[in-house]
Amino acid sequence: MKNAARHIDVGGLVQGVGFRPFIYRHARQYGLKGWVRNYTGGVEIHIEGHPHFCDNFIQSLRNQAPAASQISEIKEKHTKPQAYTSFSIQPSLNGSNQITNISPDIAVCEDCLEDMKKQPRRYMYPFTNCTHCGPRFSIVKDIPYDRDKTTMREFEMCSECREEYENVADRRFHAQPVSCRNCGPVFELIYNKNSLEKEFDYSFDRNVLDSWQLAVGNWQNMGINLSLKSSFANYFLPTANLIEYSTRTTSLLCLVNTTISSGKILALKSTGGFQLIADAMNEVTIRRLRKIKQRHSKPFAVMFKDLKTAREYTEINKEEAEALQSWRRPIVVLRQKKSLSEEVNRGFTTLGVVLPYSPMHYLLMDALDTRAIVFTSANMKGQPLISKNQEAKKLLEKDCCDAVLQHNRDIVHKLDDSIVRVINDKPSLLRRARGYVPEPIQMKDHMEGILAMGADLKNAFCIGKDRRAILSQYIGDLKDFDVFRHYQNSITEFNRLFRMTPNVIACDAHPNYHSSELVRKLRRKNSNPDNEVKLLQVQHHHAHIASVMAEHHLDEKVIGIAMDGTGYGDDGKIWGSEFFISDLEHYRRWGHLGYLPLPGGEKAIKEPWRIATAVLYNIFGKDFYRLPISYHQLVDRKDQTLVVKALQKNLNIHESCGMGRLFDVVAALLNLIHKSHFDGEGPVKLENIVSASKESYSYGFKNNVFGYEPIIRGVVDDLIEKVAKGEIAARFHNTIVKMIAYGVKELSAKTGINKVVLSGGMFQNKYITEQTTKRLFENGLTVYTNEKVPANDGGIALGQMVIAAKKLKKKTNYVLEYTSKG
Ligand code: ZN
Ligand code: ZN
Ligand code: FE
Repeated sequence: MKNAARHIDVGGLVQGVGFRPFIYRHARQYGLKGWVRNYTGGVEIHIEGHPHFCDNFIQSLRNQAPAASQISEIKEKHTKPQAYTSFSIQPSLNGSNQITNISPDIAVCEDCLEDMKKQPRRYMYPFTNCTHCGPRFSIVKDIPYDRDKTTMREFEMCSECREEYENVADRRFHAQPVSCRNCGPVFELIYNKNSLEKEFDYSFDRNVLDSWQLAVGNWQNMGINLSLKSSFANYFLPTANLIEYSTRTTSLLCLVNTTISSGKILALKSTGGFQLIADAMNEVTIRRLRKIKQRHSKPFAVMFKDLKTAREYTEINKEEAEALQSWRRPIVVLRQKKSLSEEVNRGFTTLGVVLPYSPMHYLLMDALDTRAIVFTSANMKGQPLISKNQEAKKLLEKDCCDAVLQHNRDIVHKLDDSIVRVINDKPSLLRRARGYVPEPIQMKDHMEGILAMGADLKNAFCIGKDRRAILSQYIGDLKDFDVFRHYQNSITEFNRLFRMTPNVIACDAHPNYHSSELVRKLRRKNSNPDNEVKLLQVQHHHAHIASVMAEHHLDEKVIGIAMDGTGYGDDGKIWGSEFFISDLEHYRRWGHLGYLPLPGGEKAIKEPWRIATAVLYNIFGKDFYRLPISYHQLVDRKDQTLVVKALQKNLNIHESCGMGRLFDVVAALLNLIHKSHFDGEGPVKLENIVSASKESYSYGFKNNVFGYEPIIRGVVDDLIEKVAKGEIAARFHNTIVKMIAYGVKELSAKTGINKVVLSGGMFQNKYITEQTTKRLFENGLTVYTNEKVPANDGGIALGQMVIAAKKLKKKTNYVLEYTSKG
């Protein structure tokens, strides 16, 4: 049969993930000739050979592509055979303004872990990587993704590494961070002499082995630094060299083990920044860690050695296991089976679990006596992540840790660990950072030139590049000065890296948001009358709904349900329980929860007992003190009186219909929280105790406002009747589900719309989301939720962006606009 030829164009995440070597091997497997090359928009392939094999090649592309690659499209066309005699990888084509995707950081692969056991140059080498794994975005300074544009530039490849790098058949062909112990970065341990000398001496005395003394000798010569560097390593004497090297590595790991087992805290330089780690079984240490981090009740995440160990302590279903082991390696929120230490997750029945993702994590978890370590970012409260060795040293000086395990490769982009929870059998993101960023969200329309600022809480911003929306990593809360500075720098950095000049800026409609403030500054700076930067202020919950629509390419009228904590509303009050009819341009507010009084405004959000007392007073009148509920024994009568007085005089009483506030009230009445120590504590604690029950309370509905009074009366009655808290929590949850289902049913009947979008922070609640989805599905509706971006404010920038793009398409000449009722 005559030879056939095909030209194939592959778009998506296909660079920096071992795609060309894969194509090379794949083509050879089918005996095809031709070439493959990178170009700025993706990968181009020419194959020729037996027509049947050409077809097979294309058909199996998607299934067999490297795990971290993501093919967004394959365009193929028939072409004429050119009589190639081999298959080759051709030099990259450059030249357009298009940019290829930069890969997120990828957890170390199985093959590399094997190399760390067998390959002399990589024996226990903590920077082992290949084209399928290793750091990516965290070390990229510029594009195109090439070694000199990463922080690996400082490390000149040895001849063996170069050979691998240049050999098309090698797993390390063009793996930009490739290195080995002869040429790559090194780890060192720095410790606080005062706090660790005793422990170290003790373990040395007990381990007087020849090899061990060698390590001690080295370590003493170097003062307080114990370095892994093997400067006189010689490949031709692998055995002797290996013993020495592994001895030092082992020594270092032994010291780390001593540090952790003696109850000390270690700062570890990981992929995206420094983390504090400590023995998860040691109550005293974790209590100290809580003090250092000023973390009162928020649970800590934990790293287990492997899935098997994680299963002893948590329940893990199929989807959760997949998320835990995926190359993205996020923290996964799981149901706890057996407690590690009360201090790890103080009263929560869930536990955030992560498996090792860097080679050093594997070495560590093998070396440690403990089965689990607490794993938390090393920054202090209100600070951005830290990534510089200098900053870690300060931690040591301030006694915020006892030792630092750091290395000499710089981190360019700081990345927190991502957090995932499996909801409706799908992983949903609670925090999107390492392993996900900067993977773009593919859009239907052009987004070029749009900068979306995000919200102030849990901020992430988003930039538009052709049809891609590139969402930044989780930045944090902008009210903190240093976080705000990090935010500004990150925006500048993203614009530079992705060659983006904003001509449209979208921000939240809140007048006092720091992000909106920055927009005003940016516009003043760019004030060029001929080319004024357009500005769009987007209503918070409209943006939440649009974030889901963007992900699912919806561009039509939908029923949008935004259940949230806070968000600036068109009436100047705080919204957050919105029943919208909306499309990408407009929204109409059909209904919402009744407004709750917030005595003292912001203060009431931090201290939910204030709202609870105000609500009790409004419902039961001045006799509310006499209600026989234990809430009154635990919340000071004098404090409650002050709230009542403020209410009577209408003094500084704000109003909110945020669903989060109603959860706070119920959590306060159940004495789960009176003061809130982290965002969403009330709702999380309430969900935490939900028991299996089908019962619910009644709620009011008048003039499209859902009344909470009957709900609170129901809760109080149950409290008086001494109904179990878990049962009350379940009844309350069921009520909210019922309420949402009712609102949607009404709206759908009125409008004929049957697509429902759920978003906002409340949909991080697994129970609410799963029950609501089920209920709506039974009512014949199609439900859409966030999958690629968080349902909380971390996903808002995507919504702002898609709204701005739509507006721009419809009306190209606005300069300043507010989204409005349609
Ligand atoms: Zn690898
Ligand atoms: Zn090397
Ligand atoms: Fe929100």
